[in-house]
Amino acid sequence: MTIRNRIALQFSLIVASILIAFSVLIYFVSDTYRREEFYERLKNKGRTTVRFLVEVNEVDQKLLKIIDRNTLTALFNEKVLVFDARNRLIYSSVDDQVIHYNVHLLDEVRQQKEVETYSGDNELIGLLYQQNGRDLVVLASAYDQFGRSKMENLRLTLGWGLLGGLSITIGLGIFFAGQSLRPISRINEQVSAITARNLRQRLDEGNRQDEIARLAINFNDVLQRLEQAFEQQRNFVSHASHELRTPLAALKSEIQLGLRRPLTVPEHEEVLVNLLSDTDRLISLTNSLLFLARTLESIQSVPFQPVRTDDVVFLAKDELLSAKPAYRIEIDYENIPQGETETLVNGNEGLLKQVMLNLFDNACKYSPDHTAQVRISTDSQVCRIAVHDHGIGISAEDRQHIFESFYRATNAMNYDGFGIGLSICARIVDLHQGTLSVESQPNIGSTFTVSLPHI
Ligand code: ADP
Repeated sequence: MTIRNRIALQFSLIVASILIAFSVLIYFVSDTYRREEFYERLKNKGRTTVRFLVEVNEVDQKLLKIIDRNTLTALFNEKVLVFDARNRLIYSSVDDQVIHYNVHLLDEVRQQKEVETYSGDNELIGLLYQQNGRDLVVLASAYDQFGRSKMENLRLTLGWGLLGGLSITIGLGIFFAGQSLRPISRINEQVSAITARNLRQRLDEGNRQDEIARLAINFNDVLQRLEQAFEQQRNFVSHASHELRTPLAALKSEIQLGLRRPLTVPEHEEVLVNLLSDTDRLISLTNSLLFLARTLESIQSVPFQPVRTDDVVFLAKDELLSAKPAYRIEIDYENIPQGETETLVNGNEGLLKQVMLNLFDNACKYSPDHTAQVRISTDSQVCRIAVHDHGIGISAEDRQHIFESFYRATNAMNYDGFGIGLSICARIVDLHQGTLSVESQPNIGSTFTVSLPHI
């Protein structure tokens, strides 16, 4: 069943239950009032008759019957019977009908003084009349023709009203459910038109206020991220092949040069040295690519545990200095951490060390004094590690791209590197719910700051 029909059905069921409940209530309340009113009339009738019979000497039974039958207020199928204490019928308003009465009913009237009941379709009232030591029982019954025909009319009116109301409710339910779900159908159509090839397409965000608009906005966000991921993937492949092609082409031209004419021993040596340096570059690039691929693959599944960031900083320093002893790394605390946990973050030590290694290596590599100044600071929320250098700096234009894979600023082209390190750093920091920012001025220096939420 479609959502539209389900909503319409639920809506109709609710309204139908309310309508039916109200109709039944109205019908029963009206019927109760009708009955009470009719019993009241029967009581009056019975009382009047017995009073005439007992108290007015001038009226005898014959005259009373004439009066009973000819009063304007006479009811349909009306019958008034009066019994004495020994259950003898002493008056009957009708004489051409067989009279049935129940002795138990007479006893019940004597006990309860007033009984309301039925005799077939007729309403019947029993009254005890006590005067001058005489106990008379009056039974008055009649058919409430007028009241019942009013009830019949009410039944018809309610029945048709209910039917009409239900039809209108179902119609309106389907119409309004369709109206409210129309934006979803529209989004559905738009979504089915989106494929991997046209990820640029966006959904109509409507009024940007209601739930469906928010769904479209969120979906557009997802599309945006997907598009970026696809774009990065495409760039990665083209950049990787480009980076691999350059040293391979250099290798090839070196070999061609060597084969062109017989070489002397020193010339042979020179060619071999060039080949070795190109091969080294190729190996280093392949290692970086492998590392990038492995990191991206396993980054989501690495185990996290409490890690002391200052320990990681010192570990990275030792590791870098043992590989590149010419570098200098100066570590300093900007403030004394207030508590044990201020430098403690939930993370992966290996990955965080990789971030520090990259940042320290870049700071030393891109500055003539090969020195990185590291400042550790903490506050109630985060632990910050700022890596500062007095190096070549990064222009505002380049700063927007340095975290993309393979991007290298023009002023960095004379330095070794492939433009992979910072993109890995950004992803690792992101995984730790931290931020990685950069401030830099060309030819003055750069500061890369990692902020990680501490425990
Ligand atoms: P790589 O250093 O191997 O080129 P990275 O991803 O580490 O790759 O850095 C990307 C680019 O960011 C570098 O090519 C360089 O242009 C710029 N960069 C990074 N760190 C610094 C720095 N400390 N000083 C100047 N430029 C930097």
